Amino acid sequence: MHELPIVEDLIRTLDKETEEKHFKKIMEINLVIGELSGVVDECVSMYFEMLSEGHSCEKAELHFEHTHAMLKCAKCGHEFPHGSSFSCPECGGEVRLIKGTGSEFLVKSIKAEQE
Ligand SMILES: [Zn+2]
Repeated sequence: MHELPIVEDLIRTLDKETEEKHFKKIMEINLVIGELSGVVDECVSMYFEMLSEGHSCEKAELHFEHTHAMLKCAKCGHEFPHGSSFSCPECGGEVRLIKGTGSEFLVKSIKAEQE
């Protein structure tokens, strides 16, 4: 269950944001989760509900957006999202994972009530 430290981190970040920007309350949080990150929406929601109590982001609505890992053809350089094929759809060449893609977990945007 590696979502726990991730959610703790998320709430810490939101608290900091709230303090810096003088938010009254955070209403909505849009998260981006890469398909290779191993982060599960339901676990994030569960921990968030548990841990956000008493914080400015308590009862905020969570929205999830998922990103694909990207593959790149070693032969022709074509880039395409993971999932469709393990060889290049353009030339049939060998493909490699583009480092860092699909493993992200980040806050894309938040909706907050200003003080
Ligand atoms: Zn190719």
